[in-house]
Amino acid sequence: MSEATLKVYGFGAQAKDGDLIPVVFNRRKAGKGEVSFKVTHCGVCHSDLHQVRNDWGNAQYPCVPGHEVVGIVTAIGEGVCKVNVGDIVGVGCMINSCQECNYCEAGEENYCQGEKGATMTYNGPMTPDGTNTYGGYSSDLIAREEFILKIPGKIDPKYAGPIMCAGITVYSPMKHWDLKQGQTLGVAGIGGLGHMAVQIGRALGAKVIAFTRDNSGEEAILKMGADKVVVSTDDEQMEAAAGSLDMLINTIPVAHDLAPYISLMKTDGKIIVVGNMVKFPEFSPASLVFSRITLAGSLIGGIRQTQEILDLCAEKDIRPSIKMIDIKDINAVFETLANGDTDGHFRHVIDMDTLRNHAAVQNDDATKLEDPVHA
Ligand code: NDP
Repeated sequence: MSEATLKVYGFGAQAKDGDLIPVVFNRRKAGKGEVSFKVTHCGVCHSDLHQVRNDWGNAQYPCVPGHEVVGIVTAIGEGVCKVNVGDIVGVGCMINSCQECNYCEAGEENYCQGEKGATMTYNGPMTPDGTNTYGGYSSDLIAREEFILKIPGKIDPKYAGPIMCAGITVYSPMKHWDLKQGQTLGVAGIGGLGHMAVQIGRALGAKVIAFTRDNSGEEAILKMGADKVVVSTDDEQMEAAAGSLDMLINTIPVAHDLAPYISLMKTDGKIIVVGNMVKFPEFSPASLVFSRITLAGSLIGGIRQTQEILDLCAEKDIRPSIKMIDIKDINAVFETLANGDTDGHFRHVIDMDTLRNHAAVQNDDATKLEDPVHA
């Protein structure tokens, strides 16, 4: 390890069917305009599972996931003025972008139109050399200053990670498609994203109806602020809810029949897909046409808006419902998510001290990965 690099431990998968195992690599130290931080917490998003298992067909291995990352600044590069050493900060799904295109200038780096688009926190590719990025299931992370988020003092760091992916992903479409006070918001799939959507929709003044496959989480979902829980597998309950929604945020992570959800919409209703990115079985466009229904998609959110939702969550006391886990249990948690289960909670968050205390780190016998060039 040269003086200009930092030895970093993590958990990563080396192939589509492989478990996540302890790994070690070197990140270079924070350069000009960059911030490095010691990771203290990292949320487990269903996207981590999709990526590790190559559900989207674009996985790069080795894959070190993690994009709901919180930590303490350990070093700042030349010119950094947004944060200081010791500050509690976060990173969501992006660590860089072209910073020049119209979208970046408008604060929508998530839609960066630069040559390679935004640089994702993991599964890069990193510009300019195209090497893979390794994410927040690691002891230390580096990002461009512009992509560092400030964690409001009112939010305990263990709750902050899920706001920077799950929270922003549902908040951004509510703002973009102008969810109005008093309108009715439906949320399909009450997991990590869904339970944040229930709380955020409520905070924006909407009436919220949660659509979930069984009523096991009903009490918790009502407590979060839903006005009603509808069991999506119960045809009678779905029919009773027909024509009731102004907006639906659909977080379901797998292919499913959209037709029953289209029936829920009022005329001019908006269905926003954030979950399933694979396919929908056939449905009739007529069901959209006759009620002028918009079917749209949305990808996370820009950095300005991510800071906005962090601040809003601080102000309105919105917190994810989390279960803290030891990193050694990550493969079991992936199985839980793959089975569509919330495990009685709605988001798992890794206590990253459990990585530092892991035997493979203590004994320095983790699997060596090629060093990412960026960090
Ligand atoms: P979770 O696994 O936490 O929650 C998904 C929920 O969907 C489950 O809790 C369950 O809710 C429901 N569900 C799960 N399996 C099925 C199934 N087979 N059929 C019907 N419903 C099911 O996932 P996340 O909330 O972390 O992520 C949801 C999706 O959003 C993922 O595909 C993820 O990749 C994507 N995502 C998209 C982003 C974007 O920018 N567009 C950003 C981040 C994530 P219930 O039990 O209530 O039915």
